[in-house]
Amino acid sequence: MKKIVVLLFCSLFAFSIGSCKRKKYTEVVEVPLPTAEEKMTIGIPEDVKAEAGAFEIAKLAYSYDVFATKIDPLTMEMHYSKHYLTYTNNLNKALAGTELENIPIEDIFKKLDMTNADLRNNLGGYFNHTLYFDIITPKDSGKPSDTLSSAIDKDFGSFENFKTSFSDTATKQFGSGWAWLVVDKSGKLQVTSTPNQDNPLMPRMEIAGTPILGLDLWEHAYYLGYQYKRKNYIDNFFTIINWKKVSERYEDAIKK
Ligand code: MN
Repeated sequence: MKKIVVLLFCSLFAFSIGSCKRKKYTEVVEVPLPTAEEKMTIGIPEDVKAEAGAFEIAKLAYSYDVFATKIDPLTMEMHYSKHYLTYTNNLNKALAGTELENIPIEDIFKKLDMTNADLRNNLGGYFNHTLYFDIITPKDSGKPSDTLSSAIDKDFGSFENFKTSFSDTATKQFGSGWAWLVVDKSGKLQVTSTPNQDNPLMPRMEIAGTPILGLDLWEHAYYLGYQYKRKNYIDNFFTIINWKKVSERYEDAIKK
């Protein structure tokens, strides 16, 4: 009899715990979760505005979703509306009230104090992203102009050699940084890479000159779509380069 009473007591206890658990579980399930559609809402570049200052965020010539598998929409949105915007705002803050506030960006680079980490990072971050978003296109990426094409053949031997050199340099850049095609002081084309947000316009760079093509190698530029496969991101970059823009930049650079 004792056993029956104990068993009955235990089952009642277990039942009450069970019903209690069930109640809690029901409450959790009733909390509305974001739908897949809500999670994937992507904004529009036109809504992104920098705070007032010396430099404005450059407009995008395309929406965030146009690169499909080459660069996923969420990466494009975060990159433009968060990373690039932050560099722009921080650059303006760093320049506000200084003698560098109202001079052309090339001159700011010439006068840059490399020990001023705040200005160095945000000036580079602003310039580099302005270039990067300008020289990619979802449409037909075209070919280098005759002038640029001849220069590539002259300085690298062939377009394929240039591509290999650029890809190797980008692949070897350890950690965050950029790969560049640069017009150096003598007008020669060179491939180089820089760490962090540095670029070849900064003082005392190993390869100095005007960058005309830049590839962002920070993980924020590709990780959602490519994870550890940085090489695939580098390879795909060659299918979205806007060669018309790069050629224009080349022709401007050799006039200087
Ligand atoms: Mn970036």
